[in-house]
Amino acid sequence: MCGSILMSTVHSHLKDLDYSVVQQCMHCGLCLPTCPTYDATKLERNSPRGRIALMRAIADDRLEPTKAFADEMYFCLGCLACMTACPAGVNYAELFEHARAEAEQSGALDSPRRSFIRSLTLSWLFMDLNRLQLVGRALRLYQQLGLQTLIRRSGFLKLLPKRLRELEAMTPTVQDQFSSELISPTTPAAGPGKYRVAVLTGCAQDLVRPFRNGLVFPAGDVPALASSLREAFSDVDRLQKWGDHSREIIKGYSYEQATRGLRAALRSVRAENGKQKAEIVKDGERRG
Ligand code: SF4
Ligand code: SF4
Repeated sequence: MCGSILMSTVHSHLKDLDYSVVQQCMHCGLCLPTCPTYDATKLERNSPRGRIALMRAIADDRLEPTKAFADEMYFCLGCLACMTACPAGVNYAELFEHARAEAEQSGALDSPRRSFIRSLTLSWLFMDLNRLQLVGRALRLYQQLGLQTLIRRSGFLKLLPKRLRELEAMTPTVQDQFSSELISPTTPAAGPGKYRVAVLTGCAQDLVRPFRNGLVFPAGDVPALASSLREAFSDVDRLQKWGDHSREIIKGYSYEQATRGLRAALRSVRAENGKQKAEIVKDGERRG
């Protein structure tokens, strides 16, 4: 008699995650008031506690990573405000990264349209700075010539699909100069050089946790840069610790992970949630 054993080779990000991270949440709810999505909807599933419960259900094999799960993981802004409020020290950042990876791996959100947009943006546009700047320049010209205002007033946008309209409404105003034109690649020390300082522009901020492994300042804001440097070098021992902490953060990073993070960030502004998110941000800004 022949027999066979079917081994599941499907890898699950949440099931493979250290269970001590998955079970950290003690459901106290102290994080709920800090969460902008919960604040907007008052629904438990849109709260950190609700999302952690979903993640745990998948890790425990009580739930499949469905489209509803994937949507929920992308409705989360990834702002990590909940982490600051959590008395149990729940590592939401790690849970969140694994949950988004799980959502991606499940294919629950896959569609030809999504694949097309992803390959156009992630594989073509964002992989080449020249292309990105070309698109930025075209957009700047479109805005500076007044075409954007004209088209918005003409009512033409009403003919576009709802998601495109929402995306259009979120188009940022392209500045006169890109950050690469404002900040030279290297700036020699004014006096005798003591240290080498790397100043990152772009999306590195999500790796910088202020006063834990660095400081963040607005691109092009020289006084803020000077103040950050003064603060950083005011305590060399702390600076050393920041460096150690940074090394720890990027220890396991790979190109694949960085790409996954970029994809996750892009999807977090998906058009279907765009309007709601814009309102949340506006609300947050109003509250100051
Ligand atoms: S990361 Fe932000 S949006 Fe997501 S659960 Fe935490 S506070 Fe809410
Ligand atoms: S994540 Fe932290 S603050 Fe939120 S419910 Fe769980 S233990 Fe409480």
